[in-house]
Amino acid sequence: MAKTTSELDRALSGDTRALGRLLTTVEDGAPKVRELIRELLPRTGQARVIGLTGAPGVGKSTLTAALVGAFRTAGRRVAVLAVDPTSPFTGGALLGDRIRMQEHATDEAVFIRSMATRGHLGGLAAATPQAIRVLDAAGFELVIIETVGVGQAEVAIASLADSVAVLLAPGLGDAVQAAKAGILEVADLFIVNKADKPDAQQVVRDLRGMLALGASQEGWKPPIVTTTATTGDGLAEVVTRLDAHWDWLAESGELKRRRLARAREEITALAFAALRARVTKAGVDELAAQVADGTLDPFQAAEDILDG
Ligand code: GDP
Repeated sequence: MAKTTSELDRALSGDTRALGRLLTTVEDGAPKVRELIRELLPRTGQARVIGLTGAPGVGKSTLTAALVGAFRTAGRRVAVLAVDPTSPFTGGALLGDRIRMQEHATDEAVFIRSMATRGHLGGLAAATPQAIRVLDAAGFELVIIETVGVGQAEVAIASLADSVAVLLAPGLGDAVQAAKAGILEVADLFIVNKADKPDAQQVVRDLRGMLALGASQEGWKPPIVTTTATTGDGLAEVVTRLDAHWDWLAESGELKRRRLARAREEITALAFAALRARVTKAGVDELAAQVADGTLDPFQAAEDILDG
């Protein structure tokens, strides 16, 4: 116990290795996660969570690195969680190996970590909010969640963020694909990357057309920013727009609303998981045999499980 506490203190006071170990605990879903979260909960709620999503190849990791640079220039501490639901790898190897991130490797105010599913998405979806809490408690003002936007699960992960930026690029993950995957609705900001390519303006036009078709969002209209992540062009505007969105979230009360909705979802998911485990443990197989035989009605069986 004492060991856990001092390890936690080390992690929260800037020991990057201890922080990494803490995140491994969270990722593994070890039983002590519950205690850990309870301990650090009073220290959370300060971090601003930015989700960055888009199809493979649009330039997410290049842009993330550039964005980290832009935030560092402004003197902010930044953590990046690269969540890859499609990759079997885990444990911080994936992103750490990416050469583009190397420029931040020796900067103690930057923490970069990859998380990947170990075969089931539920695990990753459950672990990500806890990983955010750990980074929040460790004093990172900004937590960027980078995720591959190809399906509903990834959209769900992106929506763990206070601000969601959807990245598009000519030829890859264009507006039509994004609309199909349902990622247009979750966007607070659109970034059309690879603006150095001739087709970039066409992507912007397609996007404008689609946004005009969709139901116009009350209050916040997601702006479209063009960037060239490889040169840093447009990055300052991304930061400005994200800051503006953050201000809007606070002023409109939307931040409170989003965080409430997220907490509600998290509780519900945990309760359902616990219930499912209880149903299995309560001997559903035995009752199933009786229901199949016609000797017990399913309503009674369900009630017996819930009561017992
Ligand atoms: P991710 O899969 O979304 O993380 O994309 P990456 O960041 O790995 O980028 C995919 C490829 O696009 C790499 O070869 C990048 O160098 C390149 N790339 C990223 N941003 C730009 C850009 O703004 N312009 C051009 N021309 N290439 C870019």
